[in-house]
Amino acid sequence: MNIVDQIRETRDISRDALATLLSTDDRELVDHLRASAREVADAVYGKTIFIRGLIELTSHCKNDCLYCGLRRSNRSAVRYRLSDEEIYQCCATGYQLGFRTFVMQGGEDGWFDDNRMCRIVGTIRKQYPDCAITLSLGERSRESYQALYDAGADRYLLRHETASPEHYARLHPAEMSWQNRIDCLFALKEIGYQVGCGFMVGSPYQTVDTLLADLQFIRSFQPHMVGIGPFVATHETPFAGFPNGKVNDTLRLLAIIRLLHPHVLLPSTTALGTLHPQGRELGVQYGANVVMPNLSPKLHRKDYAIYDNKICTGEESAECRACTEQRFRRIGYETVVSRGDFK
Ligand code: SAH
Repeated sequence: MNIVDQIRETRDISRDALATLLSTDDRELVDHLRASAREVADAVYGKTIFIRGLIELTSHCKNDCLYCGLRRSNRSAVRYRLSDEEIYQCCATGYQLGFRTFVMQGGEDGWFDDNRMCRIVGTIRKQYPDCAITLSLGERSRESYQALYDAGADRYLLRHETASPEHYARLHPAEMSWQNRIDCLFALKEIGYQVGCGFMVGSPYQTVDTLLADLQFIRSFQPHMVGIGPFVATHETPFAGFPNGKVNDTLRLLAIIRLLHPHVLLPSTTALGTLHPQGRELGVQYGANVVMPNLSPKLHRKDYAIYDNKICTGEESAECRACTEQRFRRIGYETVVSRGDFK
């Protein structure tokens, strides 16, 4: 049997198959991978794309991740925080534009403590009972995750970044712990969140073996969402001189993840759109079914600079919404007004 069909049928992948699919120049094999992944996605979600409105709460961060432009050691990063009112305004605009999921993401910023975050989540929950509230605020205590869940949050995105503890230690300062990040993911799931994990493609020191470990971790963890995007080398970080992750590797991994997890919610990321003008459309053609247009206030967008050359920092939310719809319509997909829950 062909290796693509084998992955699709067994929902498992060998190291050899992964290495082959990442390195092959065989156009026919790659086309078969792409078409199979899309068939699987179409069977579960049809020709629809779920949209999430991304609200970037804060560019302050206490962490010092070696890849990220918002790391605390980056003295040239511009720091901002959205006020409660600014956040509610983003939601109001987003709701009008047809968003039924709000994703609040940010650096790890003590200003957004449980008190403040529960107030914000509770207010949005009351105002928009028909919307999903997703948080992506990094590592917090189990009590904090529980309080935010009780306040009305439904989903949490926390990329595991790498399933290899040794690799994790090369991407993060010594004070950060791989085990803690993994413990956070399990706590979130136990509490009842729909949980997303994920990783960068082409991060420094990544190998076929660390990627295989990522796929095995995803297989055992069974997340509802998997966020992957290419690593983008960023100025004023220790990884500024490393090469960017490859668009092709990212696309092939999206397709592989779709074959391994037919139901998973799989975003076509802004990082993919940053490294290729049609990156997000290609992501969908390789099996992705979610996009996260930016709903942040235009004034602060350029300052949520986790990586260089991030797209969509000069547009209004309405422009991003319209652009998203057009881009996917052109390739035969409709963006839908829906919470876009896991099926
Ligand atoms: N502080 C939150 C949100 C982080 S930003 C948290 O810890 O989860 C969301 C994701 O952006 C990160 O998980 C990381 O995988 C990705 N990211 C950060 N820097 C990046 C870079 N230089 N290139 C590509 N992706 C990056």
